Amino acid sequence: MPMLQNVTILGATGTIGLNTLDVIARHPERYRVFALTAHSRVDELAELCLRYRPRYAVMLDEHAAQKLQHQLQGSDTQVLAGVEALEEVAAHPEVHVVMAAIVGAAGLRPSIAAAYAGKRILLANKETLVMAGKLFMQAVEEGGATLLPIDSEHNAIFQVMPPTRLAALEDGGVRRILLTASGGPFRKASAAELIAVTPAQALNHPNWVMGPKITIDSATLMNKGLEVIEAHWLFNAPADKIEVVVHPQSVIHSMVEYVDGSVLAQMGNPDMRTPIAFGLGYPERLDAGVRALDLFQVGRLDFEAPDMARFPCLRLAFGALRQGGTAPAILNAANEVAVEAFLNEKIGFQDIPRLIESVLARMDVEAVTSIAQLIEVDTMARAYAMEWRQLEAC
Ligand code: NAD
Ligand code: MG
Repeated sequence: MPMLQNVTILGATGTIGLNTLDVIARHPERYRVFALTAHSRVDELAELCLRYRPRYAVMLDEHAAQKLQHQLQGSDTQVLAGVEALEEVAAHPEVHVVMAAIVGAAGLRPSIAAAYAGKRILLANKETLVMAGKLFMQAVEEGGATLLPIDSEHNAIFQVMPPTRLAALEDGGVRRILLTASGGPFRKASAAELIAVTPAQALNHPNWVMGPKITIDSATLMNKGLEVIEAHWLFNAPADKIEVVVHPQSVIHSMVEYVDGSVLAQMGNPDMRTPIAFGLGYPERLDAGVRALDLFQVGRLDFEAPDMARFPCLRLAFGALRQGGTAPAILNAANEVAVEAFLNEKIGFQDIPRLIESVLARMDVEAVTSIAQLIEVDTMARAYAMEWRQLEAC
């Protein structure tokens, strides 16, 4: 890697994107912002472009791109639009590092493009691995890319795993992966209380500030379910070697248990700049601007088992992983529709798992063959999810 590295940030206006820019701004001698992308928030992306002066700015939306072009007149930033442009800035020959921080299935194509182009990929977009884990890991290998997990749990696991990627956990003496979960805002809520949860309550996460989709996923525990699938692909771990441990303080970000009885944990304040700085600097360590962990203030660390009866999304995700093939892609698409419907107050909180379960039941699971097939499965699952929403919605 050269001393000055060009970075593309996919999803620059999101919480991960902004945290990435914060870390990069602390190390101007090492990183240059090459491209910034966003869905449709013109003013926010324009402001970032004026501050970081990237070579390219990409908006998914054509109309938004025209507006951005207008706002950036006279600057050196070239404005592009559409999914192909996202792929282009992810795979551009002058790019060294790609932060994949688009939310949802929309992140898949640019992530795959970065993998085939052999980039250092900082993967925050877990949905890429949930939908297309097998094909994405193949693309990483074929393209000679370096994949560094940014999801805090997977980043923690990566930090305490044996240094070379294992073909099987046993090869590294690993007995289990202990994936920690905060338990979300409704850890102690009764089944009756869960039914009445509002979007405003669900958006109020106790430990992390995140985008709306992942915040709702954290409240239903679907986030943990997606992370189980993510861990499966990243670490070659079968479902029965991944244990979810509820740890409300979010200080231990996950653990690896070895056959000799050792359990290694990575700890820190819940601040995404830690995994982001790890991914940028790896194998070096960079100052991330993160407050030092004060163990006296933390005081105690608690652990409990997750309750899959109150949080059926976790059970559904384990089920989809065990079923394999296109099941996780169906689960993911149905969940995206359900979360949006819940946020728009079209369905209730506990309708989220009901909707997902009904879509999973309606669709045949096939072996994964291509990205085109997965996009088709995603589209069909969304159509079934919309149908359910219209029939069953309150
Ligand atoms: P966010 O909602 O804050 O930001 C999402 C970004 O993606 C925005 O820049 C938006 O413009 C862009 N985007 C949205 N839809 C798009 C589309 N269809 N096409 C192109 N761009 C689109 O989300 P976030 O919290 O930053 O999360 C981003 C990803 O990182 C998610 O996959 C999430 O699961 C993962 N992640 C986030 C955190 C966190 O702390 N926020 C932690 C772990 C993993
Ligand atoms: Mg996480």
